[in-house]
Amino acid sequence: MKLEKVLIANRGEIALRILRACRQLDLKTVAIHSTADRNLLHVRLADEAVCIGPAAPKDSYLNIPSIIAAAEATGAHAIHPGYGFLSENADFAEMVERSGFIFIGPTADTIRLMGDKVSAKKAMQKAGVPCVPGSAGALGENFEENRKLANQIGYPIIIKASGGGGGRGMRVVRSDAELENAINLTRVEADMFFNNPAVYMEKFLENPRHVEFQVLSDGQGHAVYLGERDCSMQRRNQKVLEEAPAPFITDEQRQTIGSRCAKACIDIGYRGAGTFEFLYENGEFYFIEMNTRVQVEHPITEMITGIDIVREMISVCAGNQLSISQDDIKIKGHAFEFRINAEDPNTFMPCPGEIKYLYVPGGLGVRWDSHVYQGYKVPPHYDSLVGKLIVYDDTREQARLRGLEALGELVLDGIKTNIPLHQSLLNDENEIRGGCSIHYLEKKLEAGKTK
Ligand code: ADP
Repeated sequence: MKLEKVLIANRGEIALRILRACRQLDLKTVAIHSTADRNLLHVRLADEAVCIGPAAPKDSYLNIPSIIAAAEATGAHAIHPGYGFLSENADFAEMVERSGFIFIGPTADTIRLMGDKVSAKKAMQKAGVPCVPGSAGALGENFEENRKLANQIGYPIIIKASGGGGGRGMRVVRSDAELENAINLTRVEADMFFNNPAVYMEKFLENPRHVEFQVLSDGQGHAVYLGERDCSMQRRNQKVLEEAPAPFITDEQRQTIGSRCAKACIDIGYRGAGTFEFLYENGEFYFIEMNTRVQVEHPITEMITGIDIVREMISVCAGNQLSISQDDIKIKGHAFEFRINAEDPNTFMPCPGEIKYLYVPGGLGVRWDSHVYQGYKVPPHYDSLVGKLIVYDDTREQARLRGLEALGELVLDGIKTNIPLHQSLLNDENEIRGGCSIHYLEKKLEAGKTK
């Protein structure tokens, strides 16, 4: 089938990002939207738009039959799921392909393989990707065996739900005395939340960084890695600020881990854009999971490689081979991304409302990926992300200064945003040095240093 028209099954900034990539490929676009999203920018810019249901995500952006019906009615050839919503739902991917459309992402089987943490870890071990030491698979019922295993790995350990996600279904255990209870509780929770009682055991890393590798793969035997990102600045498992490349990661480490990720993509027949997430501690990488979709923070990788990740992902899912090989990829300069959320900078409570005045900074090395405009009303029903401010320069320090300037110029009047948090982070001596752990931001907030 020749790809001529893409239905964008998402909203907000990523829907606009996908629309722009489609235009670059000379593809027609269909926007779908909820009743609360009639005024989204990409809905206005798309060739066609279809309202698929009420504001609540379950009635619109998660409503599979409505989305497929919209694709049929508009004669779309492919569906791009973006991130969040249905992007990692294997049943959706399957339904899309069974209905005769291209799913812009990996096959349903690949999503299933990587969506189950036990099977994902097994596949990665087989491909030579370094994993956190732990149980060979799901834990059995025999407590004595589990106790022995925990002692072999060495406390602290973490019990994790095989089907877990969103930071739920995990429990840290520090001694034999807590073990049995922890396994049982996590099993019950896993069954309740994820409909899968399987749990496994891993070494608990006390103070790691979050470092992730971006890959592109065509499912036809070609895959490349586009370097790594550091996403350690997190609050409640939500990334706040990201940068690429990750501080203090050597070219040799990048090449070793990156090439294993690319090889793993070839081994599992991966198609599309993907991310291998690692915890990084004491110079070692430990795979935790793969995201089988485009990510919020993909632009910083685009800035340091010059490669349009979304365009390339659409192209390979349409059946083309990758247009780039590993030798074409040169990492140059440094980029930061600041997630600008409509939220109170002190309480982090969402703060929807009308953007009465908008001023966006510009200049060399400044990028603003956002769907909002002056007069736009941020609806209360969805994620509070209103835009991503991305800065790029030759060195990390130059990029940091550019970030401070751009954040200082950015104005979104009418709503509260977390701009002050980003400014305080860019002036934080440990962040200036780089390489903070995933606990740093929460500790800093607790200590009340961020005003
Ligand atoms: P989810 O799919 O729920 O996001 P992940 O496996 O990606 O689950 O883990 C989420 C977070 O939990 C990680 O980013 C990290 O902060 C923490 N975590 C997971 N496994 C470990 C581990 N073995 N040691 C330390 N922290 C861990």
